[in-house]
Amino acid sequence: MARQGKDSRCSFCGTPKQETLMLIEGLDAYICDKCVNQANVLLAQELGNKKSKAFDDSFRLLKPIEIKQHIDQYVIGQDDAKKVLSVAVYNHYKRLSQKLEKDEVEIEKSNIMLVGETGTGKTLLAKTIAKILHVPFCIVDATVLTEAGYVGEDVESILTRLLQAADYDVASAERGIVYIDEVDKVARKSDNPSITRDVSGEGVQQALLKILEGTIVNVPPQGGRKHPDQKMIAVNTNNILFICGGAFDGIERKIANRLKTQAVGYKVKKDEVDLDLKNLYKYITPQDLKAFGLIPELIGRVPVLTHLNPLDKTALRNILIEPKNSLIRQYQKLFEFEQVKLSFDDEVLDFVVDKAMEYKLGARGLRSICEAIMLDAMFEMPSEGEAKELEVTLEYAKEKFEKADFKKLKAA
Ligand code: ADP
Repeated sequence: MARQGKDSRCSFCGTPKQETLMLIEGLDAYICDKCVNQANVLLAQELGNKKSKAFDDSFRLLKPIEIKQHIDQYVIGQDDAKKVLSVAVYNHYKRLSQKLEKDEVEIEKSNIMLVGETGTGKTLLAKTIAKILHVPFCIVDATVLTEAGYVGEDVESILTRLLQAADYDVASAERGIVYIDEVDKVARKSDNPSITRDVSGEGVQQALLKILEGTIVNVPPQGGRKHPDQKMIAVNTNNILFICGGAFDGIERKIANRLKTQAVGYKVKKDEVDLDLKNLYKYITPQDLKAFGLIPELIGRVPVLTHLNPLDKTALRNILIEPKNSLIRQYQKLFEFEQVKLSFDDEVLDFVVDKAMEYKLGARGLRSICEAIMLDAMFEMPSEGEAKELEVTLEYAKEKFEKADFKKLKAA
């Protein structure tokens, strides 16, 4: 056994003991914490490569209709977006399985842009798809990204996440899917890009271009900032499918403006100007994204554009009860653990939906409203041995809701 002394150093990288967090002794050698970490990454990579070959054989391709049927169990409405996503995911697999012969037509990947108000199910769609995928999947938030060299995360960190989702199996990560949330937040801040450097806006868009278009990117395996003596993992993004999502607040005005000028300019027939003003998102085109502040090169690399509809009362009510893991079913399950049968009167559901609409909270608000109504029961029920049934009536719901201080939410 090697004996540690003041002069001991790592036998792999030569770092002196004082500069390491920990120096581990072997028979005739020492290894420092940094080298252990590096070795760990290498090992995961090597084992992962072996695993991904096995994965190829066991894989069954779901048809677009089957993919949509699966999403239907969890996401209410949004048929257009569901169809587009199902087809895109299916084609993604087809592309991956294509073995290119000479002169054969190469299918290009079609990254996707999901546009819709916040809380309409963009992330839920992405997450639901992830459940049936046989490829690594990760969700990243565009708001934390900045141009390299500035405070925030480098764009390469997106691929670090994907690598982590793939257990550092590079081959498998290279066929993965990434959901980039809040992509509208990296829109260009001003029309005149030369005034100040826009490091969290246009700078990020430029950096994203490189990753989206398909190239080999050197990725820091542990994320964070790149530093010179770190070993990078080369990832080819050619086959990675990117789904971008954003609310693009205010884009309706740009759409409306465009539609108005078009209507005037081209003298469209009367019936064609009959627009659905409540849902202008459905008329969205790449031109509107450009007007909003996305650079044309980025728009070009995300060619499939689809929208999510705002949720009306019927949709919100359905969200409460229909999905496989709907809120109501979740509460019933929780109470089932206490051997209590929980039921909700129909008027309670309408009440919850009305409040969500009134406070403009959308689907996200349904949960907080239900929590306010159910809190007391959830607090008391486990200690009450006798009750076997709880019927939530309108009166009960109103009383509990009044008790919770929701006024503050209204002001927000
Ligand atoms: P977004 O990403 O569009 O801002 P989310 O997907 O995060 O919105 O939705 C927030 C929550 O609202 C979800 O967790 C889900 O419970 C609910 N929700 C939103 N839209 C739907 C929908 N179409 N079907 C079912 N649940 C939905």
